[in-house]
Amino acid sequence: MSSIAPAKATGGKGKRHRLDKPELLAPAGSLEKLKIAVHYGADAVYIGGRKYGLRSNADNFSFEEMREGVEFAQKYGAKVFVATNIYAHQEDLGGIEEYLRRLEEVGISAIIAADPIIVETAMRVAPKLEVHLSTQQSTMNWQAVRYWKEEGLPRVVLAREASMEEIREMKERVDIELEVFIHGAMCSSVSGRCVLSNHFTDRDSNRGGCCQSCRWKYDLHEDGVSVMEEGDSLFTMGSKDLCMIKHVPDLIEAGVDSFKIEGRMKSIHYVASVVNAYRQAIDSYMNDPDAYELKTSWVDEIGKAANRPLNTGFFYSTPGAEEHIYEAEEKPAPYDFAAVVLDYDEESGMAIVQQRSPFRPGMEVEFFGPGGRSFTMTLGPLTDENGGELDAARHPLQTIKLRVEHPVERLDLMRKRIM
Ligand code: SF4
Repeated sequence: MSSIAPAKATGGKGKRHRLDKPELLAPAGSLEKLKIAVHYGADAVYIGGRKYGLRSNADNFSFEEMREGVEFAQKYGAKVFVATNIYAHQEDLGGIEEYLRRLEEVGISAIIAADPIIVETAMRVAPKLEVHLSTQQSTMNWQAVRYWKEEGLPRVVLAREASMEEIREMKERVDIELEVFIHGAMCSSVSGRCVLSNHFTDRDSNRGGCCQSCRWKYDLHEDGVSVMEEGDSLFTMGSKDLCMIKHVPDLIEAGVDSFKIEGRMKSIHYVASVVNAYRQAIDSYMNDPDAYELKTSWVDEIGKAANRPLNTGFFYSTPGAEEHIYEAEEKPAPYDFAAVVLDYDEESGMAIVQQRSPFRPGMEVEFFGPGGRSFTMTLGPLTDENGGELDAARHPLQTIKLRVEHPVERLDLMRKRIM
């Protein structure tokens, strides 16, 4: 787990303040995703409460669920952050003090906030809550980072548009933690400055309502008449997804304190796979930087749950036209999440799993767990809770008993190849 290392001197420009091992910060759109993210090695997770967050469609947490999530995370030494990063209208602010006090009371470690009134209110009424400046503030220069440091914030979540060089300079000049998006969806406009969703659907991106209008399928009209020609296909205005798995050493050397994965709306299969890959890469580099080698298994792991084309965002250069996704057709991910392990009996080699998509005897499946543990096997007989034999596991959330060829752990996942 991460801990604060002593500050290091950096050529007279100031002190470096960084974690001795970067934090891996995962999205958790539900209590189950929180548990999966932590099980697979996240040092911290960020969630949304019922108010003030930017994912109003996610399964946002009640205070009771937050408390349970915090207790689970603490057993692994992990932390829970809550996104409160809307830009508030006057009507949004009723009850904000009480809400922030409750977050503090249920054991949340930090809020992620953008609106200065939420920043100021949290610091005043809930002093045990750390306040991390949200990416919604679009911070891209060290002077802005220094401003927030002087306002008393311990951490800034940078804009996705900040470059590696800018990050390095911020870290050299300002004694503060930097959190950086390293994986997941990108906005096709400058992050947090988009009104497509507001315009098309009256759902406000900056109040948690973004309906991802940039990924819709469009055709082109002029004066109400389609100007698409034969052979033209529908197109999107979406961007390729960010993926920095091949550049983990660069991020660590630049001084990034927290590696943030985007995607509170993504599946638990996605969260598990992405966290698993980055956990291994970060640990491998920190254990022995000189012996570090990128493993193809980490790259493959991400590819098993993701389907969009990937790029490195703004880290090395400003994305050009080739970084957009023009084709409207999305390919499905090559694997489908089939079950989550609830229990395992070492003596009998039997696992109890919960079905998430149908599977049957004779099907080839892969079990995978933290640290790159995985094996493929062909499914043998399946039985239900009462020992009745089944020709297939058809029903969502059905409890199934099956023999596994190698040990598994509670919360490991089972997936099946679909293409
Ligand atoms: S519509 Fe697309 S570009 Fe706009 S805020 Fe939503 S995800 Fe970002």
